[in-house]
Amino acid sequence: MTQPTLHTADILYTGMGSPIRDGGVVVSGQTIAAAGPLAELRQNYPQARQLPPRRVISPPPVNAHTHLDMSLYEFQSLPYFRWIPEVVIAGRAQRGLEGARAGLEAVRASGAAGMGDIVWDAGVMEWLLQESEVSGVAYWEVLDPNPATALVTFDKARELVAGWRKLERPGGLRLGLSPHATHTVSYKLHRLLAEYSVGEGLPMQIHVLEHPSEAELFATGAGPLAESFLASMRRTGTELSIAEVIGREPAPGLSAISYLAELGVLKARPTLIHMVNATPEDVRVVAQAGCPVVTCPRSNRNLHCGTFPWQQFAAAGVEVALGTDSVASGETLNIHDEVRAAWAIYPGLDPRLVVRAAVKGGTRVTGGRVPFIRRGEAWSETYLWPEE
Ligand SMILES: [Zn+2]
Repeated sequence: MTQPTLHTADILYTGMGSPIRDGGVVVSGQTIAAAGPLAELRQNYPQARQLPPRRVISPPPVNAHTHLDMSLYEFQSLPYFRWIPEVVIAGRAQRGLEGARAGLEAVRASGAAGMGDIVWDAGVMEWLLQESEVSGVAYWEVLDPNPATALVTFDKARELVAGWRKLERPGGLRLGLSPHATHTVSYKLHRLLAEYSVGEGLPMQIHVLEHPSEAELFATGAGPLAESFLASMRRTGTELSIAEVIGREPAPGLSAISYLAELGVLKARPTLIHMVNATPEDVRVVAQAGCPVVTCPRSNRNLHCGTFPWQQFAAAGVEVALGTDSVASGETLNIHDEVRAAWAIYPGLDPRLVVRAAVKGGTRVTGGRVPFIRRGEAWSETYLWPEE
């Protein structure tokens, strides 16, 4: 009989319950003999050969929010309201299939167990649904702030989605929808997309409360985000006010979350991306609605968005997941880089919460199931997370 091996880690997450400190896994041949607190395992398996400690043993993490098709962009750190026009819109010609191919390869190479990708280009969507070896969700991004064209934009999206559903395959990506952000989609279009998603069982992701200027937009209709957004629209020949886009007057006390709740969008239980500037009331509403949240710590830091109230969301029982965002704001598409960055950016947060978010939270958002590290299951080297 071969000598069993004892893998040890600062953080062990078996996929069940909560991650623990100072854990270990005993492996005999290719099979897990036991997993749990290290002290116990040492006692029960004195003959096991103990390996040097790792930081984390866990099922692999999920990259719950990416923009693969922006992978040819240069990384640039700017305030969010400038980054959108000066980086995303200005660089639009670089967006497409070539970037998506590079992005998918980066996600695959990082060892992510799944992904939630926002897709902007129809060719990219078809390619991803047919070819991606990484499972998860590909969300079709819809953007149209003009309520007058809401129905036309909706019909077009619906037609595309209906055509793509036959490309979904087991082990590949599921189709989802992404109304881009609270203020870049008109109130009418938000309603239509949410209703359609519920009826079709399509998962949704929406960018919400990414930068403090978004809170200002809903409270006053003014501020740097409102200004840069209205200026972008004027350049395309559309003269609209914030009140026309959101179908009501901005008002003190109105937040992006209370607005989505008012529209009925939260009933579709969309995954909310960012939520950096959530108030305690926003956290309460999101918890009650049962919406998961994805945080992208590097992107939020690089776009001067502020600090995600992670502890508050965790305390309220909200499922938090982790994403890299695009390389243009998040630097890399490697979810392990994001985990390490999250530990550094949130030093006061229990590092086990980050691991749980990356694994369980990500799986809740993108579907599938977390494999269990327990007696009798097959051992996988992917459970040993890379150190750097
Ligand atoms: Zn994003």
